[in-house]
Parts: sequence; structure tokens; C-alpha cells
Amino acid sequence: MVFRDEVRAFLDEKFDAELRAQTARQAGVFAEDVVARRWHKALAEKGWSAPSWPKEYGGPGWTARQREIFAVECTRVGTPALPSMGITLCGPVIMRYGADEQKAYFLPRMLSGEHIWCQGYSEPQSGSDLSSLQTRAVRDGDDYVVNGTKIWTTNAHNANWIFMLVRTATTGRQQAGISFLVSPMTAPGITVRPILSTSGEHELNQLFFDNVRIPVANRMGAENDGWTVAKYLLEFERGGGSLGVGLRVGMEKVKAMAALESAGGEGTLLDDQSFRRKTAAMEIDMITADWTDLRLSARALVGESVGGTAASIKKLLASRRSQDIAELAVEVLGHYAAPDQRRALGAYPQERPIGPDYAVTPTARHINNRASTVYGGSSEVQYNILARQLGL
Ligand SMILES: Cc1cc2nc3c(=O)[nH]c(=O)nc-3n(C[C@H](O)[C@H](O)[C@H](O)COP(=O)(O)OP(=O)(O)OC[C@H]3O[C@@H](n4cnc5c(N)ncnc54)[C@H](O)[C@@H]3O)c2cc1C
Repeated sequence: MVFRDEVRAFLDEKFDAELRAQTARQAGVFAEDVVARRWHKALAEKGWSAPSWPKEYGGPGWTARQREIFAVECTRVGTPALPSMGITLCGPVIMRYGADEQKAYFLPRMLSGEHIWCQGYSEPQSGSDLSSLQTRAVRDGDDYVVNGTKIWTTNAHNANWIFMLVRTATTGRQQAGISFLVSPMTAPGITVRPILSTSGEHELNQLFFDNVRIPVANRMGAENDGWTVAKYLLEFERGGGSLGVGLRVGMEKVKAMAALESAGGEGTLLDDQSFRRKTAAMEIDMITADWTDLRLSARALVGESVGGTAASIKKLLASRRSQDIAELAVEVLGHYAAPDQRRALGAYPQERPIGPDYAVTPTARHINNRASTVYGGSSEVQYNILARQLGL
């Protein structure tokens, strides 16, 4: 059986009607926990929960082309977006910086979905200037004692593990006093406080660490060398996804909606000249983004990063273009984009949507997606990185 057929057969069987219905009204960055866990389990049983991992660590060892096909087929049918913090971000870090015992313990549990991860990088005073972080870890025997706060911690309320940056030295360059630790979220002294988004979801949290004991054995990399580990992880956060696929499928979906909406006179919006000019310009732009992505991604080996500069380029292209598409979807819907549909969203919606089914998510997605040029490092920060690389 050729690979694409195998993927389609799997999706037909496992992405069943119940999961499809639960996923259709999700507007957040990641699928709701109940949906994400079910889908993760189905993928793990097939050995496909970590498409970019090498065989050595339990991944499928796919080529760049196979990964692309898998992403296209999943995006086309709209499979749940799984939280990326474990498999996409922390997994490669453990592969490179983890000790053998850490690899043996964490990687299989990431693959199976037993461990769900969150990312403790940002603090109230340390976002773009991340290396100024203040959460303190002080050695006490075989443990670090951690005090401080982390903010915007996506999915922390569902995660059972966190990877985090802590300050282990206060002298010298601020980058040189950081360490990379991992901890179970059940460790005594961790408090999770929810932050609700404008679009209505609970995705974000603030965390408080009050004398939390984290074993020294839970450090990845050397003490005070966490900045190196942190930057490597960011390469996967910014450049790890398959950029072109989401944009292409997103555009197809907007055009399908436009084919059902009236242009106000004769014909549908899709036939309207000014709409067609606009979408054509966006599609040309997207093709260039897609090719850039394929060129950059094809260079990376399985389980490896595309590299820091390429990752910044991908992050910029993906976030800006996806915002354009989300905004166009709202424009296409016109008055159907206006009602507050928050109670019609989610795996278990409490109300029927107003208007056609396809009108229920675009406004929430558009609002939610405004954050994509901020999280993972803002666009301005990516421009600064590129300018430095180019010696500007
Ligand atoms: C939805 C969402 C989810 C997130 N999830 C997580 C998570 O799971 N874990 C985590 O650790 N963090 C998370 N973050 C935090 C995210 O990484 C930070 O918001 C981001 O790095 C920006 O930091 P900041 O919010 O402190 O903004 P600031 O750093 O205060 O920036 C404010 C503005 O100033 C600009 N700016 C700052 N410095 C410069 C500069 N040198 N040159 C030019 N412009 C500059 C920025 O581009 C931005 O527009 C999340 C954020 C959001 C919005």
C-alpha cells in the first residue's frame, strides 16, 4: 500500500464520527484535553504519535516527504491539534541533552501520552528579554529549591510535567546563570491559576512555585548552561511545524465558505472579482512561503531542528500568513461573524450555533490567532534575530 493510502485508511478508521464532531468546534491553539488524549492514544497505538522522531527513540523515522504527506492528510480532515510541548519541543531536547536514564524514562511516556507537558519559560517581567528571568533555584543536597512565578503557561492545568528555566546563579552574564529543569506538576508547592483568553478559552495559566523541591537529577544539560538548552528548544517551537500545509488547507476552507456565501448581487463571493484578486495575491504569497518551508525543512534530518535562522523565518511566515487567512474567514462570513458563539464552541457545546455550522469557529479562531505573532517569541524578536544574523 502506498504511504498516502495507508494514512488515509488510518484516518478513516480512527478519526471517527465522534472525534470529528468534537474537533469541528475547537477554536483554541490545541484541542481540548479530552479530545487530545483520545487522539494521542490512537496515534500512539499506531506508532505515529511523534512524526518527526527517529526510529531509535520510538518514532516512525519518516522522510521529510512522508511527514509532509501525513501533515497534509491530517490537516485536510481536521484532526485534533495535539499540545506540542512534549513531543515537538521537549522530546528533541531530551534526545540531545538528556542522560541515558532520562531518555529511557521520559521519551516512551511522551510517545504514549502518559506524560503531558507544559513550558515554563516566560515570567511577568521576562518575555522577549527571557534571559532576565528571576525564578530562583537554590541547591539543597540532592534537590533544587525553587521559588518564583511563570506566566502564560499553556495547558498547565492539564499537564502532569513541566520543563522550566530557573536562575541558578546571579553573577556574570544573565544568560550564564540559567538551568533547565523538569518537574512533575504534582510536586508540593506548585499552584496553577487560570487566565481566560478574550476568545473565551482557558488555555493559559500563571504558576507559582513556593519552595518546590526538584531533584538535581531532573536537570537537562549542565548547571548554568540552560540557556543553550533553552535556545535549542526554541528552534523547534519556531520551526518545528509544517508551515505550508496549514496555510494551504486553511485557504481551501475559506474558499469553500466563499462558494456558499452571496456576494450581495449575482453569484457567490468566490465569483466576485475583487475577492478573487485578493485570494490570488494571498495564494502567490503562500506558495513562496510553502517552498521556503519545504527548502528549509528538507535540510533537517529526522529528529533535528531546521536551525535558528530558518526557524525564525518559518515562525514569521507561519504566524503572519495564518492571521491573514483567519481574518479573511471573518470577512467572508460577514454578519455571521458577529454573534458571540462561545457557548456553541468546544467538544461539548452548550448551545446550537447561530447561522451555518461553518460560521461557528472563524471569529474565535481569528481572535485567538492574534497571539501567534507574540507567543514563541514575537515577530519583532524574530526580526531582531535575523538582523543580527545578517550583520545589520
Ligand atoms: C497565547 C500565548 C501562549 C503562550 N504560551 C506560553 C507558554 O506555554 N510558556 C511560556 O513560557 N510562555 C508562553 N507565552 C509567552 C510568550 O512567549 C511571550 O508572551 C512572548 O515571548 C512575549 O513576551 P511578553 O508577553 O513579555 O511581551 P514583551 O516582551 O513585554 O513585549 C511587548 C512588545 O514589545 C516588543 N518588543 C520587546 N522587546 C523588543 C525588542 N528588543 N525590539 C523590538 N520590539 C520588542 C514585542 O515584540 C512586543 O510587541 C505565551 C504567550 C501567549 C500570548
